[in-house]
Amino acid sequence: MPVYEYRCRQCRVDSSVVSRVTDYLPEQVCEHCGGVAERIISTPFVRLSKASKLEKLDPKYDKLVDRAMRSTPLADPDRLLKKMKPFDKPPG
Ligand SMILES: [Zn+2]
Repeated sequence: MPVYEYRCRQCRVDSSVVSRVTDYLPEQVCEHCGGVAERIISTPFVRLSKASKLEKLDPKYDKLVDRAMRSTPLADPDRLLKKMKPFDKPPG
C-alpha cells in the first residue's frame, strides 16, 4: 500500500498515512494537534538508505578499499582482534 505524507497547517508536524489508493484523501486530521494536515509530495525513491547507496557504488571502490587496507597496517581490523584478550581467561 502506498504511504501518503501529510503536513499539519497548525503545528507543521509531518505524518505518514498508509492507505489504499481508493481511500486517498487530500487532507487528514493531524494526529498531534487535531488540525488539518495537507498532503505533501514525498520522494521515497530518492531517500535511499546508506546501505543501498553503498550497493550502488562501483565495485572498483571495493578494490580501492582493499588496496588502502593493505598499505595501511593500522587499518587492519585483525590487528585489533589479535590485541584483544578473551573474556573467559583472567589476565596474566
Ligand atoms: Zn498538527
